[in-house]
Amino acid sequence: MTGNAPMNLAALPGVHEVLEQAPLTAARARVDHALLVAEIRSHLERCREALAAGQRTEVPAAAAVAEAVAAAVDSWDRPALQPVINLTGTLLHTNLGRAPLSAEAVEAVARAAAGANIEYDLSSGRRGDRDHLVEGLLRRLTGAEAATVVNNNAAAVYLALNTLANRRRVVVSRGELVEIGGSFRMPDIVRKSGCRLVEVGTTNRTHLGDYRRALEEGGRLLLKVHTSNYRVVGFTREVSVGELAALGRELDVPVMVDLGSGALMDLARWGLEGEPLVAETLAAGADVVTFSGDKLLGGPQAGIVLGRSRAIARIKRNPMKRALRCGKLTLAALEATLRAYLSPETLAERLPAYRMIARGLDDLDALAGEIAPHVERWAEGRARVELIDGDSQVGSGALPGAALPTRLIALTPLEGSPSGLARELRALSPPVIGRVHSGKVLLDLRGLLGPEALIRALEQSG
Ligand SMILES: *Cc1c(COP(=O)(O)O)cnc(C)c1O
Repeated sequence: MTGNAPMNLAALPGVHEVLEQAPLTAARARVDHALLVAEIRSHLERCREALAAGQRTEVPAAAAVAEAVAAAVDSWDRPALQPVINLTGTLLHTNLGRAPLSAEAVEAVARAAAGANIEYDLSSGRRGDRDHLVEGLLRRLTGAEAATVVNNNAAAVYLALNTLANRRRVVVSRGELVEIGGSFRMPDIVRKSGCRLVEVGTTNRTHLGDYRRALEEGGRLLLKVHTSNYRVVGFTREVSVGELAALGRELDVPVMVDLGSGALMDLARWGLEGEPLVAETLAAGADVVTFSGDKLLGGPQAGIVLGRSRAIARIKRNPMKRALRCGKLTLAALEATLRAYLSPETLAERLPAYRMIARGLDDLDALAGEIAPHVERWAEGRARVELIDGDSQVGSGALPGAALPTRLIALTPLEGSPSGLARELRALSPPVIGRVHSGKVLLDLRGLLGPEALIRALEQSG
């Protein structure tokens, strides 16, 4: 501690002196008194600590403290969760909310928000089942006998494993022990759901005989995991759902498949091959299938579990279902999203995820023509602007090898770093998120659903 610290500390303005200062006039009228006083106290406390540590030598005046507090209080009103313009080139970006909802889904959410028959049977006037809101659609679209919905796919996997194989052995190929974005690791989820993990095969090759041996040694569930975010290529062998289902039937052991993305539509028409379909997986004999609502399904964050009625009925009776269930806003969005699949021909118009995947380069060129003058005006004196070719990714671990041709607006800073330029774009309203690559900020136009919000953001900042 420095010698003059006690004198400085004593000279700090008092809470009430700060409160009476002009910069806080508006805040005094608007903000709860106790909250405002607490904020002033914590500012003064930080000043005191900085003085005591010698990080600060001047005692701030009451007006200066009031100004800092007023700025902090102003930020309380600014929403932390903001809409963003995702031009990263990762279309379903996990950190940016994955699939954008369709207009119909957004309307459904707004309608349900005021209150809705989430667990109420309108004909009998009795308590209903929230799964029934979407179960009919899910059955029709996938051929499943029954379905239930929880908060996300991690919850779906957990709940299904815990129901079907608590305290028992779950057999998984070593080639499928996947990690999804840091906190979801298949071996951890299997253990946390109360199951004993039995790894079979090797990283690159697993044979039907490996599974058979594990079942003969006491395995009680066959689990197949779609290796969403990577591919094993070269000298490989994996056992298909059909082969596992035949083995499961022979030895009376159920087969569960975690599909991750859970595509309902064949993406081959847009040049994306190799994503297994939910209906196909069920038809191949899987007893239970799980997948996300906000990946290739194009809906809200949710986890969908579907398959044979007996297995789904048991899953629904698991007390943990209550802890993992989703709310009315999610179910409203999911129902509206699923309904779009009833007319596949209009899917790419209705679901933004598919609009982004399906759009052609001519569409992107037209978009580029529309926004280029605005980007150039914004970038004047800051960056050189050019239109270049590139590839977009689907994202969210779907189709890791697939690249969709795209157009990028590339900004090369005239001075300073590209990350500084990227920060300026993030400071726009709404924030514009690009990616930095070899000295440039790249704005991928495939993710731009309409030009208006971007133009507005660029114009406002001048
Ligand atoms: C994405 C994914 C998950 C986790 O799904 P969330 O909806 O993010 O919880 C689980 N398994 C696989 C194979 C996935 O691809």
